[in-house]
Amino acid sequence: MEKRKNRILLCLCHMSGNEQKFVQEAFDTNWVVPLGPNVNGFEKDLEDFVNQNDNEKLTKRVVALSAGTAAVHLALLNCGVGPGDEVCVQSFTFCASSHPITYLGATPVFIDSEKDTWNMDPELLEKAILDRKAKTGRYPKAIVPVALYGMPYRIDRIMEIANKYDIPVVEDAAEGFGSRFNGQVLGTFGKYGVLSFNGNKMITTSGGGALITGSDDEWREIMMYATQYRESYPYYQHEKIGYNYRMSNICAGIGRGQMTIVNEHIAHHKKVQKLYEEQLKDIPGIKVHAQPTTGEYESNYWLCTMTIDENVKVKGQENAYKSVVTGAVGGAAGVIHTAESAHTDCEPNANVEAMRTGLDALNIESRPLWKPMHKQPIYKNAPAYLNGVSEDLFKVGMCLPAGPYVTEDDVRFICEAINNLIDI
Ligand SMILES: *Cc1c(COP(=O)(O)O)cnc(C)c1O
Repeated sequence: MEKRKNRILLCLCHMSGNEQKFVQEAFDTNWVVPLGPNVNGFEKDLEDFVNQNDNEKLTKRVVALSAGTAAVHLALLNCGVGPGDEVCVQSFTFCASSHPITYLGATPVFIDSEKDTWNMDPELLEKAILDRKAKTGRYPKAIVPVALYGMPYRIDRIMEIANKYDIPVVEDAAEGFGSRFNGQVLGTFGKYGVLSFNGNKMITTSGGGALITGSDDEWREIMMYATQYRESYPYYQHEKIGYNYRMSNICAGIGRGQMTIVNEHIAHHKKVQKLYEEQLKDIPGIKVHAQPTTGEYESNYWLCTMTIDENVKVKGQENAYKSVVTGAVGGAAGVIHTAESAHTDCEPNANVEAMRTGLDALNIESRPLWKPMHKQPIYKNAPAYLNGVSEDLFKVGMCLPAGPYVTEDDVRFICEAINNLIDI
């Protein structure tokens, strides 16, 4: 196969054309600050969006922030998480779900996944809660399930368990913007819901996030913490430590533009998923990860994912991991951190790595699944409640391109490439 001239990227947000109008307005009215009409307008749009519900109308409030990571941080802070506390968090996730626990001096307790959704296993969660209580004398301070690649977690069971032990839930719906469970938008079930608008998420503000809260009191408190917790005096008076986490009015302008096409974006991601499901269904050993068909789940399919059976032979797999990765990792030009060795003690199988490099040679970007947090060196001492599911999936899984720029023809090309790379 001949390689694509233009690289097919994993996920890149598409501009609606309305963004510039909102951003221009910010310049014209001199609102180039971390608050303003676009921030208010974007929050209103987000509230309308997350409060959609097939059953009863919701009244959630939203605070726009500088990052999804900031939203996780403030949510945990408002759950009262502090030094010495423990927080139950899904192990199979991006580090932004768990790192803020450590910012607060608390310890993550990692919970493994269930096979069908790849998300937090409710049975393991309850086991962990009881075991932490037995071992430390205290219950964990919060529960953080994650909508991995947009897939809804089993929120009905998780809420049942959380309510039984009176532990607040912080839904990490950063990847699951617009995904639903029983017709209700993710992020609106728990005490708090986290959204992210990084450049590669369902919609973007270039960088940004939001926190969904229930009551006006909580909303006000979050707003205080996001703006350095300044008391109402003519001068700056501080009685609590706050943060500089508010979203910029420029970024919010991009967000308002994005909200005009969010439903089309989500529809496109779902369509791309269907195409992968259809076109890869007859390849032995390849399985496209899809939502359970029991009726409650509605994934936004932020990224499409597949698994490759360990017995499938992929061309070039004998050469997988032969060289050390030397790419830039810091996000800044020139920040290069060369890995010490080509291997770690937990990595995708050789056939998966060969598939990644094979696709890469055709100018198709793909990526391993998130490496479970309980396998990260930085968390080697954290308690973990495991069933092997996330580690097994990490070894066989990979993410495929899914954004609004991925055309039907691109999917056909990608599936043909996958087929060709399999050695029969
Ligand atoms: C992207 C993401 C976040 C938030 O990340 P930011 O880049 O700070 O917006 C949080 N959790 C998960 C699972 C994510 O993928």
